[in-house]
Amino acid sequence: MKHISELSCQDLEPIKLIVFDVDGVLVRRGTKIKTEGNFTSFETKKIHPDQIEQMRTLKEKGYLLNINSGRGLYMLQEMFREVLPFTSLTYENGSSSWVDGEIYQHVNSFKKLNGLIPRVREITHENIKGYEPKEFIITVHCHDRVSGIEKLLGDYDNLYCLWNGEAYDIGIKEIQTKGVGVKKITEIYGLDKKNVIAIGDNYNDRELLENAGLKVTADSSRLPGNFYVDLEGERLPADIMMEQILKNTKSR
Ligand SMILES: [Mg+2]
Repeated sequence: MKHISELSCQDLEPIKLIVFDVDGVLVRRGTKIKTEGNFTSFETKKIHPDQIEQMRTLKEKGYLLNINSGRGLYMLQEMFREVLPFTSLTYENGSSSWVDGEIYQHVNSFKKLNGLIPRVREITHENIKGYEPKEFIITVHCHDRVSGIEKLLGDYDNLYCLWNGEAYDIGIKEIQTKGVGVKKITEIYGLDKKNVIAIGDNYNDRELLENAGLKVTADSSRLPGNFYVDLEGERLPADIMMEQILKNTKSR
């Protein structure tokens, strides 16, 4: 694995699409959320003005941009309002994409997940912080692992229940993954895997990176890649990667 500073003009030659994970990459890790009865409150993080400028410049240089996240569309639109004119959004672990105001639904998880939601909500545990509003997957934020959730999901062979250190993402195995999302968005843009560079930092980014020609990991302890960016430090991994891409891109 090479350090991102070794990413060269030659590496970037086939690249036309840059795909970003969100948490731990474009914004800091960590979600503040609290559910009490029928009330849920949460913090909306906003993209930093420096990253808005970097994304604008990448677009001007001819790159297509995509944000690929486990978060819901409503939330991504708020976080990334300023960059919506130059990026598409793929959300809820590859379930759907937003491209210039058009919605492309990639999966239909209704029948498989709808009955499970009340069963998950029945579980009470002091570690459970809140339930993030989602359309296609189930996300439960917790201070630490909750064995009741893991035990319940043991009954469902076709579903995954992925603990990422701050939440469980529950969805359909192999169908609701960020990898499906990146494949679909690559297709929508009429490109191939070799045209894609992707950056992620967590277990649910494995399939995302596997479907990109160039893989950048922001946490090599959780995720393998061709290049790595340090997770710890003043600057966000997306900031460091975009700077390197801009430095090595001639006008296209
Ligand atoms: Mg992440």
